[in-house]
Amino acid sequence: MSQKRIGVIGGDGIGPEVVAQAIKVLSAATGGDAFVFTQLPWGAEHYLQTGVTVPEGEFERWRREFDAIFLGALGDPRIPDMRHGRDILLGARMRLDLFINMRPIKLLDTSLTPLRDRAPEDIDYVIFRENTEGLYVGMGGQLRPGTRHEVATSAMIATYRGTERIVRAAFDHAVEHDLGRVCLAIKHNAIPHAHGLWNRVFQEVRTEYPTIDSSQLYADVAAMELVRDPTRFDVLVTSNLLGDILSDLAAQTVGGLGVAPSGNIHPGQVSLFEPVHGSAPDIAGQGKANPLAAILTAAMMARHLGYGEDAGRIERAVQMLIREGVTTPDLGGSETTVSAGDAVCRRL
Ligand code: ATP
Repeated sequence: MSQKRIGVIGGDGIGPEVVAQAIKVLSAATGGDAFVFTQLPWGAEHYLQTGVTVPEGEFERWRREFDAIFLGALGDPRIPDMRHGRDILLGARMRLDLFINMRPIKLLDTSLTPLRDRAPEDIDYVIFRENTEGLYVGMGGQLRPGTRHEVATSAMIATYRGTERIVRAAFDHAVEHDLGRVCLAIKHNAIPHAHGLWNRVFQEVRTEYPTIDSSQLYADVAAMELVRDPTRFDVLVTSNLLGDILSDLAAQTVGGLGVAPSGNIHPGQVSLFEPVHGSAPDIAGQGKANPLAAILTAAMMARHLGYGEDAGRIERAVQMLIREGVTTPDLGGSETTVSAGDAVCRRL
């Protein structure tokens, strides 16, 4: 298999600490030179020193020079408006058209779930959140701002093309990974125009996948079902805002921020992978950060780039570690960021 070129943005806070462990584990799992890593300096420190968040032409360079981008975390108390985070992360999502936000929800060990009587085989599904449209496009405005007569609007955008491609991606994923069920979670009862379009597109696309058991739930019902009976899900596809909320809820049912990976994906093009957690400035530089979310994110990236077997080995090693209680303090153990990374390497 050809060598994979990864652009690495350690970013802010605990980002560089967890990224170092993820790279160490990925290199150990794949034998050293299957992946080449290029460090990119973008983050709070670079912005504060130079005034540049991300240089002109950078996203186009990523398309040319990298197979994927691996990001630690962005966020720094010195930049309260998150200007650099917006430019880098939202810039990448939009300019690279990363229309799938993919969030695997997999319980690695019973000890990690707050749900009663749930075993790892009960919670294993993936959320496909639309990542470029919906309420997060920033369209809208204010009238009479700062007065008691202020009016504010935020437009929700749904396009046929944008909806069709995320729904299709969810079905394709189900077919490729032998998953039987795709469930749509939207609110077409309350949002008849934008989510009415989602509903119609889903009905159209599902007919092309007769072997997949497709269903739909109102998003509020889906939220309840993710807690009440997570066994009923294989692939859950949803809009940007709803996916943001549902995927954080789902992540908590399998252990939360310390173990939650994610990918921002455009199939066949350079995609960006990042742990769900932020820069956690409260624990940065103390060796307390849990590197498992970043390590699982590296596994997800490896699988995406065709290294599925190595990805599986990494995931099993992480699973062993959690079962043995060899974890950082957030999961009840006494390991440091580095020693937890080393422990994963030893179990490969
Ligand atoms: P940001 O603004 O960058 O999202 P944040 O601190 O508001 O940062 P997170 O970093 O996502 O939000 O996490 C909230 C809290 O969860 C952190 O302050 C930290 O205590 C804890 N936390 C997050 N990630 C980790 C991790 N990998 N290991 C240990 N604790 C973590």
